[in-house]
Amino acid sequence: MDIQNIDREYIAGTYARFPVEIVSGKGSLVYDEAGKEYIDLGTGIAVNTFGVADEDWAQAVTRQLFRCQHTSNLYYSEPCAMLAKELCERTGMKKVFFSNSGAEANEAAIKVARKYAAEKKGKDTYTIITLKNSFHGRTLTTLAATGQDVFHADFTPLTEGFVYAEPNDLASVRKLAEENKVAAIMLELVQGEGGVCPLEQDFVDGLVALAAEKDILLIDDEVQTGNGRTGALYAYMNYGFTPDIVSTAKGLGGGLPIGACMLGEKVKDVLTPGSHGSTFGGNPAACAGARNVLSRLDEEMLAGVREKSAYLFRELQNAPGVKSVTGMGLMIGIETERDAAEILAECRENGVLAIKAKQKVRLLPALNIPTDLLEKAVAVIKAACAVTD
Ligand SMILES: *Cc1c(COP(=O)(O)O)cnc(C)c1O
Repeated sequence: MDIQNIDREYIAGTYARFPVEIVSGKGSLVYDEAGKEYIDLGTGIAVNTFGVADEDWAQAVTRQLFRCQHTSNLYYSEPCAMLAKELCERTGMKKVFFSNSGAEANEAAIKVARKYAAEKKGKDTYTIITLKNSFHGRTLTTLAATGQDVFHADFTPLTEGFVYAEPNDLASVRKLAEENKVAAIMLELVQGEGGVCPLEQDFVDGLVALAAEKDILLIDDEVQTGNGRTGALYAYMNYGFTPDIVSTAKGLGGGLPIGACMLGEKVKDVLTPGSHGSTFGGNPAACAGARNVLSRLDEEMLAGVREKSAYLFRELQNAPGVKSVTGMGLMIGIETERDAAEILAECRENGVLAIKAKQKVRLLPALNIPTDLLEKAVAVIKAACAVTD
């Protein structure tokens, strides 16, 4: 069977896939249909936190599958309740709404912010300030939140009530906060899809002060940055502030679809019976996997992430053909002299899978990638960057 051709014929044309069919893997190694081995530095876009077919995680999920795979939210279920408790204990957030994806976690965050503002300040306070170059999802509302025109063009009218500020420009946020009745500011602390660009500490400090001054909620989109990816459990912990709402997804499930919208003290009771919901949200198997992931994101694991991050920055900064390296933890963007697509193709040729963010090469390895594999992969990337053609 020629899977690539069948896919091209029958799958909706939304994806420009790399010409590789992944059939199996173990940890940070994956195999294509011909048995070729690759070191995986993309982890399904920061999803496979501990790589592919991780023994411990797969057993946690499988045990739950043989007990009960789904309950719906009409009933109580242990994995979902315990995961929420563990998330709150690790973050200081107070309550959790579970969804199935990052976009849905952000939808929940936006609904909470609107309901909170409507009840507290009146129905006309609903505007949410987001940042240019951000990415918040593909639903019509999270697209509206996404501050990049390219994503909007074919789908107008989008949900109204979003305005866009310049990242790292507090004056532009302040101006929008004065011109609009603002319910919330929503941001990614490291703009992932936008090119792996961390926000500056001073800017974030300024936003926190502005939000406190005007009683504006801070929504922290940690769909990509969360769950250990940046070397802290959540990236906000690196910046030293506490958001009102934290949304996450991707790496939380370790490979199964789950999203979480975590609610801080101010907004913990905004959602009431019937105000929001999800059939699959809090699915027991997904939650069992997420509990396994969360339990393993201890200080030792996070220190390992920071160490490997420092190694990547050291190796790649100033390497021939590399213009700049940005990011945080194991979320790295490499601006290269050569076209990023060409570099990725050459890396694939040589057994390394990396991905793109805008025009950069993006690395999102498993948090537990063995050092020897990381070193091998770095050598391949450096060689591909150094080519002058
Ligand atoms: C991936 C991503 C999303 C969307 O998540 P989905 O699970 O694809 O809906 C939202 N926000 C950020 C920051 C992301 O990286």
